[in-house]
Amino acid sequence: MNGYMGFPDKKSGKNAAGRNKSDGKNQWWPPKMNFWNAIAISVLVFLLISGVYAQFGTQQAAPQTVSLGTLAHDIEKGSVSSLVIQGDQIVAQYADKSVKSAQAEPNSSVTDTLARLGVTPAQLASTTIAVASPSGLYYWAEQLAPFMVPLLFLLFLIWMLSRQVRGAGMQVLSFGQSKARISMPDDLKKKITFKDVAGCKEAKQELLEIVDFLKNPKKFIDIGAEIPKGVLLMGAPGTGKTLLARAVAGEAGVAFFAISGSEFVEMFVGVGASRVRDLFHMAKNQAPAIVFVDEIDAVGRARGSGMGGANDEREQTLNQILVEMDGFEQNQKVIVMAATNRPDVLDPALLRPGRFDRRVTIDLPDRNDREAILKIHVAKKQLAEDVNFRVVAERTPGFSGADLAALANEAAILAARENRTKIGQFDFIRSIEKVMLGPERRSHVLSPKEKEITAYHEAGHAVIASVLPNADPVHKISIISRGRAAGYTLKLPIEERRLQSRREFLDDIAVSLGGYAAEMAVFGDMTTGASNDLQVATALARNMVTQYGMSDKIGPVALESPIGKVMFGMGVGDKEYSEKVAGEIDAEVSRMMSEARARAVEVLSAHKPAFEAIAKRLIEKETIEREEYESILVAHGIALKGEPKIA
Ligand code: ADP
Ligand code: ZN
Ligand code: MG
Repeated sequence: MNGYMGFPDKKSGKNAAGRNKSDGKNQWWPPKMNFWNAIAISVLVFLLISGVYAQFGTQQAAPQTVSLGTLAHDIEKGSVSSLVIQGDQIVAQYADKSVKSAQAEPNSSVTDTLARLGVTPAQLASTTIAVASPSGLYYWAEQLAPFMVPLLFLLFLIWMLSRQVRGAGMQVLSFGQSKARISMPDDLKKKITFKDVAGCKEAKQELLEIVDFLKNPKKFIDIGAEIPKGVLLMGAPGTGKTLLARAVAGEAGVAFFAISGSEFVEMFVGVGASRVRDLFHMAKNQAPAIVFVDEIDAVGRARGSGMGGANDEREQTLNQILVEMDGFEQNQKVIVMAATNRPDVLDPALLRPGRFDRRVTIDLPDRNDREAILKIHVAKKQLAEDVNFRVVAERTPGFSGADLAALANEAAILAARENRTKIGQFDFIRSIEKVMLGPERRSHVLSPKEKEITAYHEAGHAVIASVLPNADPVHKISIISRGRAAGYTLKLPIEERRLQSRREFLDDIAVSLGGYAAEMAVFGDMTTGASNDLQVATALARNMVTQYGMSDKIGPVALESPIGKVMFGMGVGDKEYSEKVAGEIDAEVSRMMSEARARAVEVLSAHKPAFEAIAKRLIEKETIEREEYESILVAHGIALKGEPKIA
C-alpha cells in the first residue's frame, strides 16, 4: 500500500528498460568455446564419422564369402546369374537372389581362374560378367578411410585444442589492450546522426561546434583558436548522452572509440592505465576521432574522498586519462567525450580548463521533445489511425528518452500479443503505466481485509488530491498491485513545471499523508502500507527546510546541497550546521508533517461521503479511470480541476 504515485519519481528504477546497446560484436563464427565444449564437439564429430564409416563398412561385409571352388561349382550348376568383379572380389548374384562373394586370385583374370577350376565357356555363357571399375574417388576413399578417418579426427582435435590455447594466449597478450568498441565513419549501417536524436536542442547547438571542428580543423587552427579537448555530457540516465556522442561522430564522419568507465578497471588490477594508453594511441592513429568514455564517474570520482572506496587502480586510470588529455597537440584532432549522470562526484581535476571544460547538460525531454522522441521510435512500427502522440507526451512527464523508447516497444508488444497488426492509442496509454510502475501483478491477491484497507488508503490520497487547490489532478486509482506498490493513485500535473512553489509542496505532503490519515480515520489503526508515503513526505518536508529556504523559522538559508545536483567538488552529506540547528530542522519538519496530517484529516472528514463512495467503488471494481472518478466527485459536489492544457 505504499503505492501513492505522484509525479513519476526517478528512484523507481524505471530506466532499467529501454537500453538498446548493441555495440558488442555479434560474430557467430568461430564460436566462443571453452575446453570442454571443444572436447564435446570433437567426440560428436568422431561419432558421426565413425558411424558413417561403419555404415559404409557393413555394406561391403554383407555378402557371404565362399571359396572360388564353390563358386565355380555353382556356375557349372547354372545357379549363378551374374558376376561382378570389384577389385579383387568377385560378387556373384545367384538365381535365387542371394549374393555371395569370393576372393579372386591375384594376377589372373577371373575367366581364366574359373576355366582352370573346370567351368566351361558354355557354362560361363549363362552368367553375365561385368567388371565394376571402382570410381576413382570411391576406390580411394575405401582404401584410405581406415587410415584417414582417425587421422582427420586427430587433426581436428588438435586444431580445436590449439584454438583454445591460442585464444587463451591472445587474452593474456591483450591483457592491457583497450576493449574499446570502434565505429568507423564508413560504417553506414550503424551511423547515427543528430536526426536520430530528438529534442536536446541546446545540447546539439553546443555540440555542433565540435562537429564543425572535426570537419574543418584547419579553419580553427589557422585562426589560432583553442579547441576544447574534452566535452562532458551530463544528464539523468536514459536522456540520450551515449546517443548524442555517437551522433556527433556520425555528423562529423569521424572514427568513434567508445569504452565504458567500468571497463577500465574490469578484470585485473593494473590494466586501467595501460588500457587508457592503448585507447588514445589507437584514436590518434585514426585521427580525426572521438574517444568516448561512458559512465566516467566509475573512474573519475573525486580522489581521496573515500567515496565508493577510492582505490589506487582508479586513481591511476584517471591520472592516465588526464595525462593523455594534457598530451594532446593542438593539431591532433582527437576529442574526448565523456558522459555521466553523477557530475557531483567527479574529480575536480577532470573539470578544470583544458580538460572537460565543455559541459553539456542534457535535460529530461519536455512535452514537445517527448512527442518527437516517440515519433522517432515508432518510425518502423505500424500505427492505427487513432494514435495521438500529443496526448501520450502529455501523460508522460518525467519520462526520459529511454523510457519513451521502452514505451513505444511495450505498446508494440501489447498489440502483437493481442494479434493486432497495428498499434492503437490504447496500447500506448496502457504502456505508460507499465513503464512507470512495472507490470500489473494480478496474481498478487489481497485478502478481503487488505483490499478494504488499500481501497480506503488510495481513496484518501485521491480525495485530498482533488480537494486541495495546489495538488495535481487524479488520472486513475487502482488497488491492483504494480511493481512494489499494492495500489496506486496516478496523478499528473496540469502543466509541466520547472519551478514548484511552497503551496504545492505543502499540498503534496498532505496528499502523501492521505493514505495514512484515511486508515486512521476509518479503521482507527495504521498499517505498514503507508511507510513509503511517509518517507516521500518527510524527505520533501526536509528539503523544503534545508534546501529551499521554505521554512519561516529557519529562514532563507540552504543548509544542504541536493544530492545528485551539480555541486562540484563538494562531498555528499557534509553537514554545515550545528547540532542546535539540526534540532531546529527536525522540529520544523515534524511541525510541517503534523500540520499536513491535520489538513488531510480535515479534508477527509469534510468530504466523507465522496471518500467512502470512492473506496466502495474501488473495492468493487479495483480500478477507477479518470472519467468515472470525476463523475463521483461531481456527484458529491467537489469541483473539478482545469483540463491539462495541450499547447
Ligand atoms: P544515456 O547514455 O543518457 O543513459 P542513452 O543514450 O543510452 O542514454 O539512451 C538510451 C536510449 O534511449 C537510446 O538508445 C534511444 O533509443 C533512446 N533515447 C534517449 N534519448 C533520446 C532522444 N533524445 N531521441 C531519441 N531517442 C532517445
Ligand atoms: Zn499510499
Ligand atoms: Mg549511456
